[in-house]
Parts: sequence; structure tokens; C-alpha cells
Amino acid sequence: MTDKVRVRFAPSPTGFLHIGSLRTALYNELLAKHTGGTFILRVEDTDQTRLVEGGIENIVHTMKAMDLEADEGIYLNDKGEVAERGEFGPYLQTKRKDKHTAYAKQLIEMDKAYYCFCSAERLEGLRREQQATGRPTMYDGKCRAVPREEAEKRIENGEKFVIRLKLPKQGTITAWDVIRDDITFDWALIDDQIIIKSDGLPTYHLAATCDDHDMEITHVIRGEDWLPSLPKHLFIFESFGWQAPKYAHLPLLLNADHSKLSKRQNDVAVEDYLKKGYLPQAILNFVALLGWNPTGDRELYSHEELIQMFDLAKVNKAGAVFNLEKLDWMNEHYLRSISEDEYLSLVYPYVKDVNDDHNFVDRALLLVRDRVTLPSQALELTASILKENVDYSSANIAWKTQPKEEAIERLEAVKSILSEISEQDFCKRNARAEHEQSIKKLITEKGWSNGDTLWPLRVALSGQDKSPSPFELLEVLGKKRSLARIDSAIRHLST
Ligand code: GLU
Repeated sequence: MTDKVRVRFAPSPTGFLHIGSLRTALYNELLAKHTGGTFILRVEDTDQTRLVEGGIENIVHTMKAMDLEADEGIYLNDKGEVAERGEFGPYLQTKRKDKHTAYAKQLIEMDKAYYCFCSAERLEGLRREQQATGRPTMYDGKCRAVPREEAEKRIENGEKFVIRLKLPKQGTITAWDVIRDDITFDWALIDDQIIIKSDGLPTYHLAATCDDHDMEITHVIRGEDWLPSLPKHLFIFESFGWQAPKYAHLPLLLNADHSKLSKRQNDVAVEDYLKKGYLPQAILNFVALLGWNPTGDRELYSHEELIQMFDLAKVNKAGAVFNLEKLDWMNEHYLRSISEDEYLSLVYPYVKDVNDDHNFVDRALLLVRDRVTLPSQALELTASILKENVDYSSANIAWKTQPKEEAIERLEAVKSILSEISEQDFCKRNARAEHEQSIKKLITEKGWSNGDTLWPLRVALSGQDKSPSPFELLEVLGKKRSLARIDSAIRHLST
């Protein structure tokens, strides 16, 4: 066995990448990258009833969008087809069926597993009886007593069977987990796990354990829901005399009310977050902190920093609350820290149909940048600025009790100084500062107040009681639109 870390992310291709699985994939990748090890993608497709067409492509594709790519195992080739690379293949679990069957036979030979012929009806009856008497529902071990020769004859005669692990029925097993330390399990409460189903395919338990051995996996990092399976997996390793990998079971993800993260209360598909416009950097940062914090004094980390700081032993045991407000906050942060061009290319698609003046649209989008949490909001934040015809019917152009004539006088005066500025200077970068200076100078010279001049100007430009400042609006609207809006506000006041 190698000293180098070899970890695997082993999703079942049931359709989409769950946000919890993304964390599992990320922690595996972080450990591999932090230690210079190998991150493997193995697809566990043995449960044929749960397969979804295109499920593998979707998972790999979403991982790639999240900046997670495996060094070894399944990947998508240039044509977008599922392919694999590496010396420990195949990495698609059903292709390893013969190995699994051989391992199951070996377990039978070592008396660590047995053939079971119990019918579905018998098992159902047993379950009901156990429920009625308040006992744990589990297999009663009836077929453990069937001698092997007899079992083999029954199979030859065409009887249907499964193979089960022959687990100890008493005593305990203590397992060590990187995050949880020692955990003791009581064998009496653990079912004789089926390892080969009646269709001849292995179950996850046999397949994952044998594959982890064959692929020389050093650390198994997976969700806490797999913890009850750990004794069965260790039993298989021990039966073969193999060295078990180190196990790390990640804390559960919880809703805000501390119930287990459910589909009903939240979106759980990573692709849905991407579609809504959450940035991969924000999602990755958010997911990384579900159960771990590198330093405890800040919450924003780049992927590179996470790699540098990762420490599996510092992951928490307690469930991690999935706080969407934090994700929003992180998304705002990343939207503000990317370049202007990147920002514009993310938000532009949402407003492109509103106005064909590309430069005008860009200026409006930059103006609202500090208020955007999700790119899709850009539309509602800029709609009133971008629509060409301003409607003054629900706005008060005059300030408080200001007479209409006074508002008109102020607007005319502002208009005449603005008319002197060239179209180009009017909306150049930071023209707002110059607009502010010249208009405030006018106000001082005339002995007017900010309120009686700037209020009518701002409402004339925006058509709304609440809006960005008039100086910003002038810069964003440009000369032609600004003057036209002032004119139409004057007309509105005059009627
Ligand atoms: N196929 C399992 C899952 O989808 C993998 C569990 C493991 O990592 O062992 O959760």
C-alpha cells in the first residue's frame, strides 16, 4: 500500500449532484491536494433501479463547473462522453462485477458469508411480527444454519438466493474515525447485510469495500449517514486480512430548525444554485464551511486557501446548519470582487432585452452592482432606469410643499448648465462628481437649498420617489436622455 493519500468521491448517478455530496467531494479533493495525493472519481451504479439517464455526465459536469476535477477515474472527454483514466479501473462499479462476485465466493469459503434462500414473503412476515412485538426489524439468521453443500445443491436446482455477511451476533466492535475518534458498535443490533442480491449484482457494501481495497484508498471521507455501515465494512476488511483505510464521517447538514436538510425546505441540487446565479466560488466557500472553519476569525476563503489550510481532523462532529443568508452574503462578496467585465457578463443576459443601448445598460448595471445578491435581480434593480418612457403619475416631482413654478425654475436652471457639457463628458467614468460640483455651485450661487433643487431633479430623472442620487443618474443616463427627462418632467409640472 502506498503512503500517498488516495481518496475517492463515489456518488451514485441518481440524477444530480446534491449540495451535501458536493461537500463530500470537496473535502476529498482538499485532502488530496493538501497532501499531494490523488483524488479519484468512482461511480457507484450497482443499484440499477435508481439510475438516471445522463446522471453521470450531469455529476461530472457540475463538479467541473465547481472547479472540482478528479485526477483519476471517471471524467468527460472532449466530446462530453463518460470516459475513464487511471491504473485502478474500471471506475464504473458495475464493470467490476466479476471481482465482486469472486470476493463474495471467497467470503463464503472463509465462512464469513452464507447463501440465504428466504423469500420476500417470509422476510415481510418476519418484519411485521418483529414490529408487532416491538423488536428491532432485522433478519433472524435462519439460513446461517443451512450447510454449504445443501445450499449449493439448492442453487444448482435453480432456487433463488442472496448472499449475506455472517456477522458476529454478540460482543462489540470499536472503530476509529478521524473526526469522531473511537466509536463502539454492538453486533447484536447489526443485520446480516446482503452483499449479493438475487439479480447477482453486489450491494454497495461489498462493492465499495472491495473497490476501496483494490484502488488502494487510504481515507474514506463520506457523509455521517454511512456511519452505521462502518462495522460491516470493517468486518469485510478484517475477513480478508486487508488493512482498512482511515474513515472520516462528515457531519449531517441541517435546516435552520435543526432538522435534517430536506428537499422540501431547500434546494439541494448544486445545478439549481448555479442556475440561479450563485457563483461557483461562493458555493464552494459556503460548502467548505459546513462543518469546518480553517481559522475561526473569517469566513471568506478561496479554493487555493482552503487547499492550503485543510485539516480533516478539525472537521466538527456536530451537524452543520445550512444558512442560506450566509450563502447570499458570500455571493454578494464574490460579485463585488470579480472584475467589472466578469460582473457585466454575468448580469447582462438578464437585462439584454430591455434596452439596446449596450453602453447605457452597462452603466446602469454598474450603478446597482452593490445591491445585487443574485444576477437575476439586476433586472428589477435597473428596470426603472432603463425604460425609455418615464411615468410621473405616481411620483412627486416638486419637493414637499414646493410650488410647481419653483420646481420648474430649478429644473430649467440645471438643464441650462447641463446643456453645456458634451455628450461624451456627460457619461464618462465618474462624471457624477463633476455633475455634483457644478450643480451644487449653481445652488450656492442662487441661494437655493439642496432639497428644493436636487429632489425635483432626481425625480425628473428617475420618475420615482426613491432612486439613486441625481448625479449618478445623470452619468448613467447620458446627456440626451437626461435632458429629455428633465423636459418631460417640466411638461408634466406645467399641465
Ligand atoms: N455511493 C455512496 C453514496 O452515493 C457512496 C458512499 C461512500 O462514499 O462510501 O453516498
